[in-house]
Amino acid sequence: MTSEDPRRRIPRTDHLLAHPGVIEAGQRLSESAIRAVIREAQDAARVGSVAPDEVESLVLDRLAATSGSSLTPVLNATGIVVHTNLGRAPLSTSAAQAIADAAGYVDVEMDLGTGRRSKRGVGARQALLDACPAAEDALVVNNGAGALVLATTAFAFRREVVISRGEFVEIGAGFRLSDLMTSTGAHLREVGTTNRTHLRDYSEAVCDRTGCILKVHPSNFNVSGFTSAVPVAELRPLADEHDVPLIVDVGSGLLHADPAIPDEPSITQALEAGADLVIASGDKLLGGPQAGLILGRSEYVQRLARHPLARAVRCDKLTLAALEGTLTGPEPPVKAYLHADPARLKERTERLAAAVGAPVVAHDGRVGGGGAPEVPLPGWAVRLPETVARDLRLGSPAVVARVHDGACLIDLRCIPEADDERLAAAISHAVQRRGSGRPSGLADDRIQVSAEEGLT
Ligand SMILES: *Cc1c(COP(=O)(O)O)cnc(C)c1O
Repeated sequence: MTSEDPRRRIPRTDHLLAHPGVIEAGQRLSESAIRAVIREAQDAARVGSVAPDEVESLVLDRLAATSGSSLTPVLNATGIVVHTNLGRAPLSTSAAQAIADAAGYVDVEMDLGTGRRSKRGVGARQALLDACPAAEDALVVNNGAGALVLATTAFAFRREVVISRGEFVEIGAGFRLSDLMTSTGAHLREVGTTNRTHLRDYSEAVCDRTGCILKVHPSNFNVSGFTSAVPVAELRPLADEHDVPLIVDVGSGLLHADPAIPDEPSITQALEAGADLVIASGDKLLGGPQAGLILGRSEYVQRLARHPLARAVRCDKLTLAALEGTLTGPEPPVKAYLHADPARLKERTERLAAAVGAPVVAHDGRVGGGGAPEVPLPGWAVRLPETVARDLRLGSPAVVARVHDGACLIDLRCIPEADDERLAAAISHAVQRRGSGRPSGLADDRIQVSAEEGLT
């Protein structure tokens, strides 16, 4: 290295650490995170990709853009309401506030009146029971899969779960509910065929080895044509006759039937039809945090609550807070997006299209999250060139559009109206970058997060 070597002018680490902007970032970021940013900028100068006198501003820019979590907030422009790859349900303001309030010490297991230990999660449990009067009791666990594991372990360890062959569901990312259940030591007693199962199939299978009868809502697919399934109400007498619990996994967590998605079963319907226990997720159509909800007869709920495995699938205080906030607060975003007013959606889409100079096309949104697979949610989209999608995802704010049929489609259904202007600015920016013929840094611009990705 000669004395004129420009690399000698790269600012030293201690010099950068003493910069007021870097010191200020220390209130948000750990020292090791800050040092990593500094090292990266110095390395960039060493290989000549930035000038030595640009290192300081690069460090400050990077620190400003770095947060404590690598999770990037995104605007969901796919039209898929419960987008699995985007964290399923966005929380309501009251649920988000409840999480912030519960972040420190909270009375999650203390009665402040007596100062003694109390039951965990009483508030969330009560909110569930108030929202679903058909249930005698409720238990909240980590997620829907956890609820299913707990129930099959408690009722069917080394015994049989009687289940229709048409209800063997793979819920996404290769996970099969049947594998989940057998992993607990339960034996599956499949009855019927893929397309047709009759009451006599169940009655021939239920015996003294039966641990429970399980119905699973085939939430992410439709079987049509020559089909038949046995409704919950018709299984009730069989469960009574053999004194085994009748459990229904409804999946999506609708508390009450929703006319917009008529084929999606609700927790209330399943309980009224005679289910002893109903299992559902908290972060699908209920619109809350990830959680497994178990509602139904007190005797059975309490058996699950007392089972040793319950401790392994319990949820944390933040989840309990968010669930209660979801149930007692204003309509969660998922409901609002599902029922978005078509006239208002159209108006907003036309305004966006005019702002960015692109056409409006008809576009169907989806429920997603494995729910109501074939139900379209009619609406509109702004149609952009497919190549813009990647720049949008990597922009600020990050925008995830639907990439379909050679186009990048912007559906406003799941965008809060207050974000319309930010979205328009992000699109204009991405379109301009494309228009300027800026060479793309990565080889494959067509790697896409397609809408279909997020459905299950
Ligand atoms: C989504 C789903 C599950 C799994 O619930 P998680 O909360 O994702 O663990 C189980 N059963 C059905 C029918 C589902 O739709």
